[in-house]
Amino acid sequence: MGDRERNKKRLLELLQAAGTGNAHCADCGAADPDWASYKLGIFICLHCSGVHRNFPDISKVKSVRLDFWDDSIVEFMTHNGNLRVKAKFEAKVPAFYYVPQANDCLVLKEQWIRAKYERQEFMADGKVVPPPGNREGILWKRGKDNAQFLRRRFVLLAKEGLLKYYTKEESKGPKAVINIKDLNATFQTEKIGHPHGLQITYRRERHIRNLFVYHESGKEIVDWFNALRAARLQYLKMAYPELPESEGGLRIFPSAIVTGEVCLQWPSSCPSSPGTTSNKASWKRLVQSRENLSRKGGLPWIPRSGGCCITRIRWMPLSRARFLSGARSRGTRSRKTCPRASAGIAGKPASPSSPRSADSSSPVPLRRSSGNGWRVCGMSCAAP
Ligand code: ZN
Repeated sequence: MGDRERNKKRLLELLQAAGTGNAHCADCGAADPDWASYKLGIFICLHCSGVHRNFPDISKVKSVRLDFWDDSIVEFMTHNGNLRVKAKFEAKVPAFYYVPQANDCLVLKEQWIRAKYERQEFMADGKVVPPPGNREGILWKRGKDNAQFLRRRFVLLAKEGLLKYYTKEESKGPKAVINIKDLNATFQTEKIGHPHGLQITYRRERHIRNLFVYHESGKEIVDWFNALRAARLQYLKMAYPELPESEGGLRIFPSAIVTGEVCLQWPSSCPSSPGTTSNKASWKRLVQSRENLSRKGGLPWIPRSGGCCITRIRWMPLSRARFLSGARSRGTRSRKTCPRASAGIAGKPASPSSPRSADSSSPVPLRRSSGNGWRVCGMSCAAP
């Protein structure tokens, strides 16, 4: 066996080696990465390798299967690996900072990778990055009546828990004042038609409202996103001091506010397929089982097991295909959010030890329905 074949075999074994973390992309967690940064000593997926290529002074990439690897680089990869490098570069990731997953949009991954390796924001002895706190800046916001994006000044007051935005005539005061308690933000690049498109959803006077914004700078929009998360976390800690401190133990954004829209339009990004119940009696049963859960857990009505929500929809007959394809349907014309659901705050994400009722772990099967219906989403959607 030549060097080439032998080293490739060693690398493939290294990818599967127990206790190395190499079986998943070091940056986004995608399974079976087949690229590697041989300067950092990590295995990464194709998408993340594309980001790494942009800063060759810090990272250099090779394909595990297609490129030639000499002995010394294979040795270097063996002595590093994903878990070891993670311990170094992710030593102190703040709880509010959103760590992207495999199915997240590119801007989130890119800024995470840059923050981690290029700016070295999370190393134990790295530079101290102050928490976001208050923030002020320009975002481009989609106008109400047309698809044009308009320059708007946004102000986040973290301590007060308020997000405001202003039109050009600032003397009139803010155009909207949004309480951080009722706010959610998700990247929706396709919907907004921009790779940095961020959807901010909030509740005002019992209506769900959306702001569609973007910024040309990927860092700027991701910084805004994380600043909103930090403000939400601050609010949650004050409102629910018993919530865990650790990263991954918190669902920072409520799913109740956005679920109706996100599930209908991006079902593929929802970990649980949306379900429906055709009558009020079964909806009541679901509410009761969730209330029992929350009584046991001592948290607000949104249960501990996944931050689910229930949104009432009055719909016309709706085919499964149209529902799943996310086509705008007559079913969404009249929607009323369950007041108890919308008043709730996200609970902890699902964990194997969490108590789960049958309906929250396996949503009610989708079915054709007519007349009034109750749509139930068992899990949070794209919201991190
Ligand atoms: Zn990746």
